[in-house]
Parts: sequence; structure tokens; C-alpha cells
Amino acid sequence: MRKLAIVTGAAGFVGSHLCERLLKDGFRVLGIDNLCTGAERNLRSFGHDPHFEFLRADCSEALSLPTCDWVFHFASPASPPKYVKLALETLRVNAEGTRQLLQHCERVGSKFFLASTSEVYGDPIVHPQPESYFGNVNSYGERAMYDESKRYAEAITYVFTKQKGVDARIIRIFNTYGPRMDPKDGRVVTNLMHQALEGRPLTIYGDGSQTRSFQYISDLIEGISRLMKADYQAPVNLGNPVEFTMLELAEVVKKVTGTDAKIVFEPLPQDDPKQRKPDIALAKRILDWAPQIKLEAGLTQMLASLRS
Ligand code: UDP
Repeated sequence: MRKLAIVTGAAGFVGSHLCERLLKDGFRVLGIDNLCTGAERNLRSFGHDPHFEFLRADCSEALSLPTCDWVFHFASPASPPKYVKLALETLRVNAEGTRQLLQHCERVGSKFFLASTSEVYGDPIVHPQPESYFGNVNSYGERAMYDESKRYAEAITYVFTKQKGVDARIIRIFNTYGPRMDPKDGRVVTNLMHQALEGRPLTIYGDGSQTRSFQYISDLIEGISRLMKADYQAPVNLGNPVEFTMLELAEVVKKVTGTDAKIVFEPLPQDDPKQRKPDIALAKRILDWAPQIKLEAGLTQMLASLRS
């Protein structure tokens, strides 16, 4: 009998790749999504698999869910423009959604897997960021609905782990890119790739000196798969530690797309972190994991998928 995994956010960028991997690994998958930022087209390559079922629903509600082996909570708006626009939905899915799903895990004895984020580190003062860093987060600002609700999600997972015996895993996902990202999600990789392909200027917010570290989706999914098998309940960073300024990223996008697009500078959003880079020593040690795909190779694969 195949094991059953429930995946919330199944029609999202990361959730859909996770469903596909779980099906390949022999699971039955119940994918849940309310499609507030996800899209049914993301289910196309595996939606007809007889071991996959899709439920259009809001996991913040008290759903009647089946007994299962794993619950993966990946539902949440995740790009800054989307979580600002869907602020209350973001707070709710990370607070109420996480509570509902943890209670289900407690009831049926299933394992819980939380998609947390590098945003729990806020605008970090410690660089790179190890899991032990408590972060530098503005609780009353433009990103608070995401940062603080993910911090709450970690906190409630801690309580269910320590006080109610739920076996949980937590990952802090750093900037991730690849096929199936919503072209209009407003994130830097999608914006620049689409702008380059459409012959428009590349938008850089601020002076472009802020940094991020970009992880290709297949590396993230491999890390998730390894953590499922590991006996480790505290948060684990999953990200690519190679750091780029946004101006450097724009140069790589120009090279990969073969365009000579010019750059236009736009205002930096409030609370935009100046730097971000994961310390992945923990993931290396407990999962024997490290990212394999370099930025140029990943963007080339993403380009091929955009063109097809
Ligand atoms: N950014 C940019 N141009 C864009 C979109 C974003 O320069 O068209 C910047 C943004 O201000 C931030 C970085 O790129 O400093 C990464 O932004 P993104 O929204 O991808 O993710 P974040 O890491 O901020 O959550």
C-alpha cells in the first residue's frame, strides 16, 4: 500500500514540484490549494496520475482530511507583492492553516513538514545566516505579514513537537527559482527573465547592490526529500550559498537570454533586506546535501521551459 502525503499549496511553484517528486517516490498525494496564487496549469504534468488527487480548498478552514503519513504545509503567498496584496490571507494561512494541519497530525499521528523561509531572518545583521541566528525583523512594516506569520508557524510547530508529540520537520527556504514560477509574481528572477525575453528594460530596485542567493528548484526538492528521512526536528536552511548583487544577477540574465536590455532603477521597497545568504553547514552535516545547479545553468533550464 502506498503511503499518503497531503501537500498544501500543491498548485504553487514549490508545491507542484514537491507533489511530482512524491509521486515518483511512490506516494499517493492529496494536493490542496485554494488557487489564490497557485495555478491549475502547474498540475498538468502529473495531475492525471491515478495516485494524485486535487482538492480546491482553503487549508485555513477546518477541513475533513484523511489519515495520512505526511502533511506538507507549503500553502502561502510567497512573493513580496503577492503577500502584501493578500496580507490577511497570508497571516491566516501561516497561523490558522498551520494550527489546523498540526492538529490533524496530532489526531492521526502523521508527520508534519513546514515550509518556512529565510524571511524569518528579516534584514539580517549576521551574514551568512545560520539557523541559530534569531533575525532582525520589523514586526510593524511592509513585510511583517509574511515574516512574522512564518515565525509564528515555526513557533506553533515547536509547541506541537515539544508538548503534543508531533514529529515535525522545518525548512527555511532561501530564494528559489525555476520552471512554473508565476510570471507575474513580481520577484526579481521572474521579472528580469520576462523583461529580457520581451525586450523590455530590466527593473532594479534601489541601486542594485543588495544581495540574494538563488537556489534552483531541483536542489530544494532534493533537500526536502533527504530531510524527510532524517531524524531532525529543528529548522534547517535550504538555499544556495553563492551570493549575487541584483546588478550581477541582471548581467547573468542578459548573458543567458542573449539580450542587451538596459537597466532602469526603481525605488527600493520598505524593509527590503540588504543581504541574504544561507549558512548551509547544518544541511551538509545532517543531510549530506549541497546545491548542485549553478545560477547560469539553472536560468538556462528555466529559459528552455519558458520558451516551450
Ligand atoms: N528586485 C529588483 N527588481 C525586481 C524585483 C525585485 O531589483 O524587478 C529586488 C528586490 O527589491 C530585492 C531582490 O530583488 O532586493 C529580491 O527580491 P524578490 O522579490 O525576488 O525576493 P525577496 O528576496 O526580496 O523576498
